[in-house]
Amino acid sequence: MWYYSCISVLIFFCLYFVMYNELFYNTDEDQVLLLKACSHKLQQNEDRYEDDFEGLFSKSRGRDLHNVLIDNENYTENCCFNFEKPPKTYIQLLDFYKNLSFPKDERFLWDKGWNIQYDPQRFNEKNKLEVFVVPHSHNDPGWLRTFNDYYHHKTKPLLENIIQNLFTFPDLKFIWAEICYFSRFYDTQDLITKERIKKLVHNGQLEFVTGGWGMPDEANTHWISLLIQLTEGQSWLKQNFNITPINSWSIDPFGHSPTLPYILKQSGFQNLLIQRTHYSVKYNLGNKRLLEFLWRQLWDTKGDTELFTHMMPFLSYGMKHTCGPDRTICEQFDFRYINKNTIDRFFRRGQDEITTKNIVKKSNLLVDQWKKKAELYRTNALLVPLGDDFRYQEKNELLNQRNNYERLFYYINRQTKFNVNVRFATLQEYFEAVHKHTNYKFPTLSGDFFTYADREDDYWSGYYTTRPFYKRMERVLLYYLRAAEQLNAWNVKYKNDRFEKILRNVRRQLSLFQHHDGITGTARAHVVEDYSIRLKNAIKDCQYVMEMNIFRLMTRNSYEKMDYNKKYFDIDDSNWPCNGSIRSPIIFSEEDGNSKFLVFHNSLAQWREETVQFLVTAPFILVSDLDGRPIQAQITPVVIWDKITPTFLTKLYNLHFVVKIPPLGMKTYILNLKSEKTKSKHTYFASNIISNTSFIAVNIENYPKELIKFTAQREYIITLTNGGTIHFNNNGTLKSIKTDRIREPWPVSVQFYEYGTNWWSKQSGAYLFLPNGPGKPLVGNFVPYIVYTEGPIESSVCVGLPLVVHCTRIYDNKIEIRNIVNISPLNNFEISMRIATTIKNKDVFYTDLNGLQMIKRNYFHKLPLQANFYPVPTAAYIEDENTRLTIITAQPLGGTSLSSGVLEIMLDRRLSQSDGRGLGEGVLDNQPTEQIFHLLFENLEGCEKRVENHPAGALTLAAYRATKELLNPISKFVYVSLETALRKDFGTKYSPISDDMEIITLRNIINLERNSTEVNTGVIIHRTKVLECSAHTGNLNKSVQLHNLFPFQTYGSSIHRTTLTFLKNLGEVDIEELQFCPMDTKALIFKHIPFKI
Ligand SMILES: [Zn+2]
Repeated sequence: MWYYSCISVLIFFCLYFVMYNELFYNTDEDQVLLLKACSHKLQQNEDRYEDDFEGLFSKSRGRDLHNVLIDNENYTENCCFNFEKPPKTYIQLLDFYKNLSFPKDERFLWDKGWNIQYDPQRFNEKNKLEVFVVPHSHNDPGWLRTFNDYYHHKTKPLLENIIQNLFTFPDLKFIWAEICYFSRFYDTQDLITKERIKKLVHNGQLEFVTGGWGMPDEANTHWISLLIQLTEGQSWLKQNFNITPINSWSIDPFGHSPTLPYILKQSGFQNLLIQRTHYSVKYNLGNKRLLEFLWRQLWDTKGDTELFTHMMPFLSYGMKHTCGPDRTICEQFDFRYINKNTIDRFFRRGQDEITTKNIVKKSNLLVDQWKKKAELYRTNALLVPLGDDFRYQEKNELLNQRNNYERLFYYINRQTKFNVNVRFATLQEYFEAVHKHTNYKFPTLSGDFFTYADREDDYWSGYYTTRPFYKRMERVLLYYLRAAEQLNAWNVKYKNDRFEKILRNVRRQLSLFQHHDGITGTARAHVVEDYSIRLKNAIKDCQYVMEMNIFRLMTRNSYEKMDYNKKYFDIDDSNWPCNGSIRSPIIFSEEDGNSKFLVFHNSLAQWREETVQFLVTAPFILVSDLDGRPIQAQITPVVIWDKITPTFLTKLYNLHFVVKIPPLGMKTYILNLKSEKTKSKHTYFASNIISNTSFIAVNIENYPKELIKFTAQREYIITLTNGGTIHFNNNGTLKSIKTDRIREPWPVSVQFYEYGTNWWSKQSGAYLFLPNGPGKPLVGNFVPYIVYTEGPIESSVCVGLPLVVHCTRIYDNKIEIRNIVNISPLNNFEISMRIATTIKNKDVFYTDLNGLQMIKRNYFHKLPLQANFYPVPTAAYIEDENTRLTIITAQPLGGTSLSSGVLEIMLDRRLSQSDGRGLGEGVLDNQPTEQIFHLLFENLEGCEKRVENHPAGALTLAAYRATKELLNPISKFVYVSLETALRKDFGTKYSPISDDMEIITLRNIINLERNSTEVNTGVIIHRTKVLECSAHTGNLNKSVQLHNLFPFQTYGSSIHRTTLTFLKNLGEVDIEELQFCPMDTKALIFKHIPFKI
């Protein structure tokens, strides 16, 4: 009987195999290969699921990092990214989504249960099912409680229990992920305990998985922050245990990004585990034994970026979802409550202690679940995680689990009928068992796992936008940290531990906030406040390090005399994300003299010529450089908006001028205060028009009266210096844009929309977006105030709407939108900005993943509205053959393209209730937030061709520059101590790198070599892929001349290649020139001998 069923399963599979592949590949050649593969399988009757054509399956776990790096040293024209040749992978997730039907019964998969049938003969004496039971505890660094609160009341006690049990039972194993907690615990242990814990690590009982500072969100995070948090955790492990984990464990982030495997692969990782993916994706991959795959980057044609990935198959990582498909059975094997008569026990039937009386029945039940789960995977190794959130806090909890499971293991391992071998294990042991079977092949996969849904229409697209104020603050901190690290690294010859300690703490605070309830905005309000204090303090710390280092670098012989408590420079803090209080220093206040020195720092490795802005108390100012050359400047009024009404300040002015700063360098400018009589002819007053029928009083001291006019509502045109024009509607929003490269203006409109929730059904919360229908335009029945300002350097149009002050700023031929969003009076209300154009993008649009790469999206009409929103961490675009609209965002938000020609970005959300995912409260702590966007309208004539089925996109060079500049503004310092003369500039003799590259990291790193006095500077350089267009100008060069870029080359150093975390030295390089393919990231360590002071 079993024979017939086997044959029928084989025939079924073969038919399915043909059908399945038809979905992806329709060429005749592929079909022949498929049929050959199937006939081969029927003859062999071995592994039904393998194939090996076109490299779509691979035996390896992905190519070894070292070989990839060595190979890449010799390339020139062998770069992977080719828009005319899409890589072939067995599963391309966008195509996979196109072919999924999302039937109704899958919507209730976890309620009705996953009916898995298995072949009872699959495992036998020679081929036993190897079960790896892996105890773990998931510890959120902040969610319902703060990080500190959790540590003291949950994590510390549970770690004590875990460590104690591991000491007692050598057969017990444990894995731990969050180094923010473990480092805190370990650092407070006595020396003997520390030594014993080290033994647990080195004898394989305790494995650190991932080893990052936390378990980061993968939707809103920037890839540089992801790398910082991984480096921070792994560096701690290297210093304390001399280990570097190679297995990643990402069980709770709400959707998964390929950016993480990109970083992990180049940090030396070999395996990755993920959990939260769409239920239909799990179901369809699982039924085809495709839950383990080689995850490749979207552009990779060679497999260099592959990382072996295990996807968990069921609803959750908690133990009632990990033994098999039936949670009512799995929960019987959670022995947490067996010795207790608690109410918990009352509601958990079947959780009995394992005894000689019930062991037969219990073993049968458990093995049946394991075999069902094993049916979803290819090898005979089965992973059974045993844990949950903050597990093993109670004294006997782990002891009970261990003792009862040991009884089961003892019995099951000795029953020949089961053909099962089970033990406690670490994640490493599971992956080793998977890779031991070199005859198994795994499919290749590319794409991402957004947008996540755990059931029905519950799509987790709300958290892409929740609490945008803090999302913006994270980007501000990232900028400050990188700039501070860079400035501190230039002072490498005088190593300063004080600043190193400050920056290490800042990295840890930034890393903590990458947590999947941090930057996601999904923690309780008091926890958000705790993160907020940490972020604010970290920003202040960076500012201090920057100010002190600017003093050291820009003054001569200043190091010995430096007073750490003195304020030499005052940083202009206008990047702060909130509205209201002015945080910029006000120049020429009463105690100031008649001149002020300003220093500007450019943290990018290209020259920058950009408009900067300051607040000044007098309008008659001459701006010049230190050679005495006057600089053109502009004075505009300072306008404060009280919701819809503008107020013009009487004694404060905005000063704008253009600075030119060298790559990674600094330059000094000087402001001289003049009188009306001696005023500079290089400084211009902007003209202003206030449009409204209700008059407001404007009385600005020393501002020419004729330059402030009042009109009724009217349209308005601003002319750019490059000949383009920006046309505004009479309501103060964009109407059309004509750039220098097009003949006819492009029509465009910007409108705000609202979404609500249904009171009679499930409602949106911090995680979920459950709108009550399509968005409705926000229309006001009043005539708004509009303020037009036009000058030679900066022009702007600002309109006061009830929930948004919407400003369009035009400077450096750029279009910038600044929205100050304040939706606090409303409840169950979400607001978006919709930009409509005539671009014929149909259903296709592109969004970025973690600021690293662009991915193609399709609007799927078969899915609800909320399923079609995706993370927009830095950029999104729509395009047709000739035109493209790109939106660059300074803060991560959710976005989509609802219909052809339209890009929509969510701005804020305020919700009264929890959405049933455990938070237990709504989102009601909204803060007025200044959100910044850049818009680029570009002509694509003469750009490289892209085939339709390529899954990746790429920004144009101008858009890439815009993202870099928006996230890394020029830092502005006011010299307040005036005791020593300033240098004219710093870094002018060093060369810029190619415009499509970026210095990701430039910082001092810990020297891990004992007895070495060298100071190590870590450098990471990344080259992106830009859409190459004949008309786009810029400096593009695939190589970097290291000695031209870094000044510390000049005083004796050796250069070493390393992993992205700087933890594995891959050998000294003697080349001065490094070659880069698009999407390459290379890490280097410069070793110097520090100067003695
Ligand atoms: Zn979590």
